[in-house]
Amino acid sequence: MNVLVINAGSSSLKYQLINMDDESVVAKGLCERIGIEGSKLTHKVPGKEDYVVEEAMPSHKEAMALVLKALVDPEHGVVANINDIDAVGHRVLHGGSTYTQSIVVDDDVKKVIRECFDLGPLHNPANLMGIEACEANMPGTPNVAVFDTSFGMGMEPYAYRYAIPEEYYTKYHLRRYGFHGTSHTFVSRETIKFGQLPEGHQRVIVCHLGNGSSISASVAGKAVETSMGLTPLEGLVMGTRSGDVDPAVVQYICDHEGKSVDEVLTILNKKSGVLALSGNLSSDFRDLRDAEIKGDEKAKLALDSFRHHVIKTIGGYIAVMNGVDAITFTAGIGENDGDMREKIMSHFAYLGIKLDPEKNAVRGKNIEISTPDSTVRVFVIPTNEELAIARDTVRLVEEAKA
Ligand code: AMP
Repeated sequence: MNVLVINAGSSSLKYQLINMDDESVVAKGLCERIGIEGSKLTHKVPGKEDYVVEEAMPSHKEAMALVLKALVDPEHGVVANINDIDAVGHRVLHGGSTYTQSIVVDDDVKKVIRECFDLGPLHNPANLMGIEACEANMPGTPNVAVFDTSFGMGMEPYAYRYAIPEEYYTKYHLRRYGFHGTSHTFVSRETIKFGQLPEGHQRVIVCHLGNGSSISASVAGKAVETSMGLTPLEGLVMGTRSGDVDPAVVQYICDHEGKSVDEVLTILNKKSGVLALSGNLSSDFRDLRDAEIKGDEKAKLALDSFRHHVIKTIGGYIAVMNGVDAITFTAGIGENDGDMREKIMSHFAYLGIKLDPEKNAVRGKNIEISTPDSTVRVFVIPTNEELAIARDTVRLVEEAKA
């Protein structure tokens, strides 16, 4: 079965065509500057040169048509016919409190995605455009929505409810949802599978540390906690997001700087985090590490603060699960920055967690980086959200056929 995975942003559309017989990526690519002058499609097929198409894409519909044209192109394509694409899986940011798992798209699903525009204003409209563009260009091909919020829907009310008046929950569904859900689901399941964690010993903490960062705790794949909230702003210090701040900070900046709440939230999302703590040096952890080595105090503060919040969260999650069987690192920093992993895990030496320095230096594959006598097993597992989306798509399309 060939599954096309679509991740539509406001002015971009990423895709991967995956052959699910062996889970190999047949082709992938990116449409940029949709709705803006200078639109461009870059189509990549393993072992071939990139194929670049510079053509107007006034909307996602035209972008999708160009993607399909590239996929069947006699020279650069990978399938003979559009009908060789059996199903499409869409990454959708917010499913609100309606959807606890992935679902085959119909009119009701589209209605809920639309109702969640408020909760995911940057992503949900684009995600819906991606679905409608596939419906227009590939009539009859099933579309599956895979929600980033599904994982967090598994939490108990005492973990997901905000302690604010009930009417805001009942009227507006204001609660903690959590994000990076596709990654947390995939990596926690892979940890159990790869580590062969026996039943009853499947308490897993996943540290998804990238430009956006979140940590989850789960037992046998069911979420117990996750650090993001109603939006991805809650939780850890991130690349450009502040993470947790006292809401009074928002009021104070509004009052003293004459800014609107929207403006302050944009600052907290885009101009904060390690970028702000480093004195606007960079949100990229490689730049910060280089600057820290050269003695830059602000870069050191940014990295220390990032680590502090990661450590605090891991410690809290160990406490709420009455222990932990495995801790797994993933995403840009989690997969590539062995020094960061070492510094974080060394805080848990008192629990008997020990890393093997040689294994901790390996990159690009699933690996157990703890020593055999470590009390908790520690892994690096590269996240693969596209594959997770494709797997859900196959499962749901096959269930629908049965
Ligand atoms: P992601 O959002 O998962 O794509 O991760 C992006 C982040 O990963 C950026 O802040 C990068 O600086 C960081 N990153 C990527 N490679 C490395 C590396 N080798 N060392 C430290 N950080 C890295």
